[in-house]
Amino acid sequence: MKKLIKYLKPYALLAVLCVSLVFLQAMCELKLPDHMSDMVNIGVQRYGIKDAVPERLSAWTLGRLRLFMNAEETAALERNYSADTADTFKLSADMGSEDRETLNAAFTKAFAAVSAVDSGELDLGVTCNAEYAALEMMSESERETLLRSYMEAADMGESVTGQLVAMAIRAEYERLGMDVGAYQLAYIKRTGVKMLGVALLVCAAGIGAGYLGSRIAAGFSRDLRRDVFKKVIGFSSNEINRFSTASLITRTTNDIQQMQVVVTMLFRIAMFAPIMGVGGVIYALRKSVSMSWILVLALIVLIGMLAVIFSVATPRFKIMQKLVDRLNLVTRENLSGIMVSRAYNTQEFEMQRFDRANAELTQNSLFINRVMALMNPVMTIVMNGLTLIIIWAGSHQIARSSMQIGDMMAYMQYAMHVVMSFLFVSMIFIMLPRAAVSGDRVAEILTSESAIRDPETPRDMRRENGGIGTVEFRNVSFKYPDAEEYALKDISFTAKAGETTAFIGSTGSGKSTVMNLIPRFYDVTEGAVLVNGVDVREAAQRELREQIAYVPQKNVLFTGTIEENIKLGAPNAGRAQVERAAEIAQAKDFITGKEHGYEEYISQGGTNVSGGQRQRLAIARALAVDAPIYLFDDSFSALDFKTDAALRKALAKNMEGRTIIIVAQRIGTIKNAEQIIVLDEGRIAGKGTHDELMRSCSVYREIAKSQLREEELA
Ligand code: ADP
Ligand code: MG
Repeated sequence: MKKLIKYLKPYALLAVLCVSLVFLQAMCELKLPDHMSDMVNIGVQRYGIKDAVPERLSAWTLGRLRLFMNAEETAALERNYSADTADTFKLSADMGSEDRETLNAAFTKAFAAVSAVDSGELDLGVTCNAEYAALEMMSESERETLLRSYMEAADMGESVTGQLVAMAIRAEYERLGMDVGAYQLAYIKRTGVKMLGVALLVCAAGIGAGYLGSRIAAGFSRDLRRDVFKKVIGFSSNEINRFSTASLITRTTNDIQQMQVVVTMLFRIAMFAPIMGVGGVIYALRKSVSMSWILVLALIVLIGMLAVIFSVATPRFKIMQKLVDRLNLVTRENLSGIMVSRAYNTQEFEMQRFDRANAELTQNSLFINRVMALMNPVMTIVMNGLTLIIIWAGSHQIARSSMQIGDMMAYMQYAMHVVMSFLFVSMIFIMLPRAAVSGDRVAEILTSESAIRDPETPRDMRRENGGIGTVEFRNVSFKYPDAEEYALKDISFTAKAGETTAFIGSTGSGKSTVMNLIPRFYDVTEGAVLVNGVDVREAAQRELREQIAYVPQKNVLFTGTIEENIKLGAPNAGRAQVERAAEIAQAKDFITGKEHGYEEYISQGGTNVSGGQRQRLAIARALAVDAPIYLFDDSFSALDFKTDAALRKALAKNMEGRTIIIVAQRIGTIKNAEQIIVLDEGRIAGKGTHDELMRSCSVYREIAKSQLREEELA
């Protein structure tokens, strides 16, 4: 898993950009409820008057308020207010924040006092309308004592005082002839525009981060897929057998897909949720500390529920990939063997096999989805319960005027953010194990070293001594990986340039195995294989394989035209070279007989040509390559006697000086070979020309006799 992190490196810059956008988005989103609470608290409840410092005041009101201010406060007052008209004062626009704080406190106190005097709550024991005259008679300290004792007795909450002050200022504005309705609306509009701006920013940052996140994830998985595929095509048969083709396909597609999903999530949710969670808690605490218990309670309930759900679902998540693998394996096997299974009427059985794999995957997915479906109602309950409790507790506090409505509303939103982010984080924790399994499966491919590797300093094959085209086996013994028995035991021979070396023997005697060792599809267990006098393990694979044109026992044609298939090993070959190869391979007649000739399209797996035609195309493909060594593994078996003979004649004429190694079933095919090697259970039972072997080798005689009889019978 850790190995794969380096695939994110090229995207570091994008990632930083993406994370910054996510951060911006979260910050803005956290700001929104704050603005909303301002709109409610100040805009609606306090007529858009945000603190106790009035913008305009009449001289008359100012005179009354001044009675309740001390020297320092009066000084601040004089600094910041100037005469506007004859009997009004105006707040200067460039007031310092320190002065504003002082004045806010001073005005709050003074407005409260004036309103208490006016309403008679602050009883001065004089007749109506004579209060201010009486107050003016008092000394400053007397007034201060009076006020303090009143304030202590009244014990008004902050919000009530705030409201009171706002009302007093609004009354003052009205007296001065200002349009208080418009003033309030202007505040609401200002806040509204601010909120809209922030919301747009959230939106833009969200889109940007989403785009970048997806780009990073898509790029990451593209790079990963490319490298995995590159690795896989470099695998030797060992690794391919170990992983199984189906699993290699799943790993390159589905597993990387899983990781892509998680990387996207990582850049969006995994960054966003924690910021929102922590930020939500901080902002919520700023709005109200006393309601924190609600948040804690909600989180405890949530954790409990999630713990139950996840402990049930996580193991199932982890085995998901294995089940997908299994389904792929069964599907692949079924589809590639569909003809065989039809011929033996085993569709029923295959169907059952598929059904089993399918059902297992379905069961698992269903289970996971059912459990996940539970999440939704659980979340709804938690969310709504949370809202309910906040409103219940909040309304009590509002009634006691220790909280404002806007703050409660904002608290609710912050609480939602906290709960949601918590949920997201836990979602990541459930996704991660599955992705980690996928990551390991992919990393396993990337870290597997092919058993067949080039040496550090490869020896040059072409310039070495030993002659061009010589193939030599020196006491070769070979065991397939995981096999118990040796497939080849102590094989030694030399195939020389300009000669044909033929292998014959019963099925399973090891003929194809010998052929596989020459292009180094496998490494020998003991002994050595030499090409051009160089041990194949000491040469570069590419160079080695350039020396060899190989027709495997099991032919494969690729989708494309006939010409493209023939040119596979010699992409620069011209039409003439292709036609010559086809002619030697005895394929010309049937190709020109096709509607589109060399442009005829070969369908997937080469199913629109016959077995014999496929074989001849495979031979033509080898002949189109100009190589010193030609290997034909049982390449003439699907040809009729006449074509076989014609092909051999053409080969002998055109392949002068090349090393030809043929595996054959029929004695007739190899009768004229310079050297015939008889294999029996992985050992050499005889070596020589046809005549020599007829005399000396009993195994060869057996084969010859049985075929002769067949020919006589036929
Ligand atoms: P031939 O081509 O003469 O019919 P092979 O060379 O294909 O025989 O096979 C020789 C022996 O090696 C057989 O016993 C076969 O079972 C075994 N064998 C072939 N291919 C593999 C493989 N990929 N893994 C394990 N054993 C194999
Ligand atoms: Mg074979």
